[in-house]
Amino acid sequence: MLNKVRLLTPGPTPLPERVRLALAADMIHHRTPAFAALLDDIQIGLKHLFGTEQPVLPLSCSGTGAMTAAVHGLFSPGDKVIVVEAGKFGQRWSGIARTRGLVAEAVQVPWGQAVDVAAVEERLAAHPDARGVLVQLSETSTGALQPIEALGRLMRGRDALLVVDGISAVGISPCPMDEWGVDCLLTGSQKGLMLPPGLALLALSERGWRRAEATAPSCFYFNLPGERKNLAKGQGLFTSPVNLIVGLRESLRLFFEDADGVMRYEEGLRRIYRKQWALTCMTRAGVKALGLSLFAPTDYAWGLTSVLLPEGVDGERLIRAAKEDCGVIFAGGQDHLKGRLVRFAHMGWVDWGDVAAGLAALAHGLRAAGGYTSARDYVETALAAYRQALDVDPGRVIPDVRS
Ligand SMILES: *Cc1c(COP(=O)(O)O)cnc(C)c1O
Repeated sequence: MLNKVRLLTPGPTPLPERVRLALAADMIHHRTPAFAALLDDIQIGLKHLFGTEQPVLPLSCSGTGAMTAAVHGLFSPGDKVIVVEAGKFGQRWSGIARTRGLVAEAVQVPWGQAVDVAAVEERLAAHPDARGVLVQLSETSTGALQPIEALGRLMRGRDALLVVDGISAVGISPCPMDEWGVDCLLTGSQKGLMLPPGLALLALSERGWRRAEATAPSCFYFNLPGERKNLAKGQGLFTSPVNLIVGLRESLRLFFEDADGVMRYEEGLRRIYRKQWALTCMTRAGVKALGLSLFAPTDYAWGLTSVLLPEGVDGERLIRAAKEDCGVIFAGGQDHLKGRLVRFAHMGWVDWGDVAAGLAALAHGLRAAGGYTSARDYVETALAAYRQALDVDPGRVIPDVRS
């Protein structure tokens, strides 16, 4: 085999060796003190990742399962919710809400952009009976980052809950839920958390829990109050995805351990966000140096860069050439953007070397698909942006590097 396979897709993402070895461990029973100790062990890291004092529930399902659990656990048929539809995953919120019998009021956002907070405010004013706002943190179909902190401010003191799909963002860019006023934050295992698919994580705020306790369960499997009660006893409600949770303990160690193997939560968080921010700057600088357009120009996710291809370049051919000739796997565009977009992910177990390989594969694919670039020094330009960004600690704000 000539090439290493590099999975630069927005889930699933590559697995670190330490996680793969942990996944291979023999089974422990899910109703034993050993499993209870494991569940207890992962809580502290998860609470730091979610930025909450509340428990973070492991659920045995993909990310969409956690979205379903949130909608079923927090709302009842006939309730009205406002959905930010900024792409495919916003549409998924609406689909789940309608299936639950909710009235979904969509705020349409042009693909590639962040929602205007004033538009949500207007919609809340027009529908004072709305019981929730459903939104993505990172809209993975477009690569746009949504303004969760500002939405949290907007919704303070209102009855409506702020429910955030952080599936392509938790462990990638900050969303401290208690500080920002998020009522429900959820994610899946196969994106920022460096795990295989199949495990979801969900946390509720205090008022989220009050709502969940007051909502009649509509489904036997997803029972958030029941899961919380069992978690306090060191168990899940049903058979837990034991190996994935063992793997999660290992990925949390990779996030938070210092060089001596001591868990340092605040430092670890800063390190993850700094790395993710630097990879984002690196990718964007490289794409621009290749003469290509960034699809989410101003409000962009930290784990995923979407590239808008020039007219006449066949995106599917580009992606095929990157895979077959370079071993780099990208995702394409969805719906009306099929063949028009390359979604270049840099989340999870990905570093500057993978991004450099991704940029080279993008340049190769572009030429193979009928495009043109005269750029020669795009990897150097990208690495300079990476180094510069690493020197800047983004903390909890997004520095302005748009120019
Ligand atoms: C990947 C993704 C999902 C879907 O998650 P599944 O694990 O495939 O169910 C939902 N929302 C966002 C923002 C995603 O990135």
